[in-house]
Amino acid sequence: MITAKRQLIADALLTGTGAEVALAINNDGLRSGMRLWFADLDERHGPIAEIKPHGLKSHRVRLTFGNFSGAVIRQIGKAPIEDQQLARALISSISAEHEVSIQGQDLEDWIIADGSFHLQAIVRHVTGPDTDDAVRRTCQEVVVPAMAAMAELIGYDVVDIDAVEDMTAFEGAVHPAYVKRRERNPRNRLLCIRIHGDRCAACGIEPRLTYGVEIAIMEVHHLEPLANLVEPRPYDPAIDLIPLCPSCHRAVHTRRPVPLSIAELQKRMEDARA
Ligand SMILES: [Zn+2]
Ligand SMILES: [Zn+2]
Repeated sequence: MITAKRQLIADALLTGTGAEVALAINNDGLRSGMRLWFADLDERHGPIAEIKPHGLKSHRVRLTFGNFSGAVIRQIGKAPIEDQQLARALISSISAEHEVSIQGQDLEDWIIADGSFHLQAIVRHVTGPDTDDAVRRTCQEVVVPAMAAMAELIGYDVVDIDAVEDMTAFEGAVHPAYVKRRERNPRNRLLCIRIHGDRCAACGIEPRLTYGVEIAIMEVHHLEPLANLVEPRPYDPAIDLIPLCPSCHRAVHTRRPVPLSIAELQKRMEDARA
């Protein structure tokens, strides 16, 4: 049912981008497509993602800007370099098989200079493009990371879905604010799981398989807090963040201020089993 699909897509986008989206069905012709945009911006005032059937078994995804996006594009122009890196890493995490391209620009160092920004991708499916599964997959593989990149550049604050859990997770720990912010940023989490998979990097548990997708929790851990480095190096979300189950995450943070390394934690787990 299309309404079920809408809810599913809205949820995937909220979880991945940290921002609410609004959706509309495109009903031109026999086959319907879909448009979505950030709910707090009018459709014409920011990025718009469009999913359309393409050929027999594909979707074409486009990300463009509405005609009145000047203010948002100026805001994007002021995005900190770290946010730009995360945005590019999110776009780079889209598999090459989906033929991602950004008109007139390189995938590695694109910028959004004006409203002519235009990203396109083709997602091929084994079934027809009108099935729920196909739409869901196109969202997960292209639309969510692409809109997450936009959310990062626009600077959406973290929606505190797990506020209660976050309040207790690090209680008493000396946990620098910026590390905490990175670990809680839904776009960092999305990128981390896209790159490393949905499996705890320490104990190997896959919470989705154990608890079911609705209540499974996977957290993101910042491997090497910059404060502890002798030679600071640029933060790289692709290598500095790893997925940990809540139990392992708490376990590494029992040592303060420098958390246990994953190897140290694994050694302790081995010792405990022996
Ligand atoms: Zn674990
Ligand atoms: Zn952590």
